[in-house]
Amino acid sequence: MLGAVNPPVFENSVFTFATAEELGEAVRNEDERYVYWRGTNPTVDLAQRKLAALERGERAKCFASGMGAISATISSLVSAGDHVLVLGAVYGPTTQFLRYLEKFGVTHTHVRDLGEGDSAITASTRLLYFESPSYMAYAVVDIAEVTGWARERGLVTVMDNTWSTPLFQKPLTMGVDLVVHSLSKYVGGHSDLVGGVVIGPERLIRPLALTEYQLYGAAMSPHDAAKVIKGLRTLPVRMAAHQERGLAVAAFLQDHPAVRSVNHPGLPSHPGHAIALRQMSGFSSLFSLELDTESRPEVGAFLARLRHFRIGVSWGGFESLVNAPALSTEESVRATMGIPVGLVRLSVGLEPAEILIKDLGLALEGMSA
Ligand code: PLP
Repeated sequence: MLGAVNPPVFENSVFTFATAEELGEAVRNEDERYVYWRGTNPTVDLAQRKLAALERGERAKCFASGMGAISATISSLVSAGDHVLVLGAVYGPTTQFLRYLEKFGVTHTHVRDLGEGDSAITASTRLLYFESPSYMAYAVVDIAEVTGWARERGLVTVMDNTWSTPLFQKPLTMGVDLVVHSLSKYVGGHSDLVGGVVIGPERLIRPLALTEYQLYGAAMSPHDAAKVIKGLRTLPVRMAAHQERGLAVAAFLQDHPAVRSVNHPGLPSHPGHAIALRQMSGFSSLFSLELDTESRPEVGAFLARLRHFRIGVSWGGFESLVNAPALSTEESVRATMGIPVGLVRLSVGLEPAEILIKDLGLALEGMSA
């Protein structure tokens, strides 16, 4: 429009009609018509179409946060009495949401791998939920194997694909029914956006768009949708740079005597590397390492010695971030999740890799001293 290089932002919360009959007709088809932005908005629609195309899905619905997308998606698929199977480590608040659903009669079980799956499913199991690479441990799940297993047992699959972005991994092409993302990470890319999306076939998205989207009210704003659209334009160049820096930092760490292990699926030494190469076309720069220590104060001192990695929870932005679950997670939760005391998560940003490597090297020297 007017030769503008960026699409205009439709800031309208409301859209009007010439007659009450026309309004009535639009309300009856609110999923396709613009009536009120809690349901639909043209700028949000544009972001949705771009995300659906990139993820190879029929349709996308954007939310005010990743958790908005995850909670609405799970709610749309289960009813009282249903059971959810969770495979591998998943984002903490996703598990908290599943615990919350217990008051509505929805139960869940966590399993480490498919080998434990058959004894965990029941006649009421409806949904299999997972992430790949997995939360904090960055273990790789064979997506095609999981979806084949779930299909044989009549389960719907939902996968959180935030780590890889819709650029580097396309789980819908490997049989996953619905993909969810936090757009607050690499897609936004500048630590100035909180958003989420669910992508999949029309038959599963439409009921969710008409019910949970409208009733929970976690709609994405057009301003945030404009940030998503801008983020998608630079996603390939940013991700190439994140990948390169992340791998350089991971390779440095894996050879350091003060580091027990590095959990980055892009390293040839990672146990899931061969599967990762088969199902992913690139690697993001969020990974964990285990420091050679069982001492929390020592982990805290390591974090404090870092100058370029700032201490914070999120990831996927310009700035490099560091987080140690042993220092910021309740001890019982850490132990249940099997997270070692020395586990440190790094989100490698877009600063030059040599600066980040030097920063980590100096902080690690302090450890082994
Ligand atoms: N999924 C993963 C893997 C995450 O790390 C996060 C947030 O950190 C979320 C989902 C939730 O996203 P949001 O913070 O946008 O609600």
